[in-house]
Amino acid sequence: MLTGAGISAESGVPTFRDAQTGLWARFRPEDLATPEAFQRDPRRVWDWYEWRRELVRQAEPNAGHAALVRLAGCVPRLTLVTQNVDSLHQRAGSVGVIEYHGNILRDRCAAEGLVASRAPLSITGLPECARCGERLRPDVVWFGEAIPRDALLAADAAAADCDVFLCVGTAATVHPAAGLAERAHGAGATLIELNVEATALTSFVDVVLRGRAGELLPLVLARIAG
Ligand code: NAD
Repeated sequence: MLTGAGISAESGVPTFRDAQTGLWARFRPEDLATPEAFQRDPRRVWDWYEWRRELVRQAEPNAGHAALVRLAGCVPRLTLVTQNVDSLHQRAGSVGVIEYHGNILRDRCAAEGLVASRAPLSITGLPECARCGERLRPDVVWFGEAIPRDALLAADAAAADCDVFLCVGTAATVHPAAGLAERAHGAGATLIELNVEATALTSFVDVVLRGRAGELLPLVLARIAG
């Protein structure tokens, strides 16, 4: 299954769409979540990420995240691929989560490409790598960047080998994540979409569940768990 920002919306983590009507109404995420934006103005990008990190730290997993933990115990195999970078699935108790777009709470060295800790003192005032002193960046996949190889391969293999593919709270506009549903569909899986509104997937899914993840996922669980 694939989850997107919508499953965390009820935890108070804004989706990108919500973010545009809030504090960051003046910015487009696509203009901040890119390597070019970071190159141009790292302080502005870091300000945006520190704000998002704080939101994520204060958020708690909701009933939708919790239902998926229990669902995993009710079916022979459940592979959870998330586009979310907020760790809320893991904090709810899901194991083996495939983080397709990284994790906002981690730093990565922009020079070495490895997850890194921060140097205690920074000359520039921006986070710097404790190992090599180069600039740190959030460990997330920005627009135009490649998906981490392990996540890409594991998600593709799971999509190609599932009976049911459930998409929860994703607008399905960001590729290659959105292509996982097509991959599963092509391999014969039943596609289910759970979303508050129609998406790019709606026209070709087999089942549409229209509503909030925090309300509908517990109902789905109850039907399956019996
Ligand atoms: P998106 O913002 O493009 O779309 C969110 C989708 O969730 C929409 O289709 C919306 O209708 C739906 N939705 C909103 N509230 C819902 C609810 N309560 N229940 C069910 N559905 C609901 O998000 P996306 O498709 O995940 O893609 C945007 C990218 O932004 C992702 O790749 C992700 O990395 C990043 N992102 C992550 C977070 C997070 O980690 N929580 C938050 C914002 C953006």
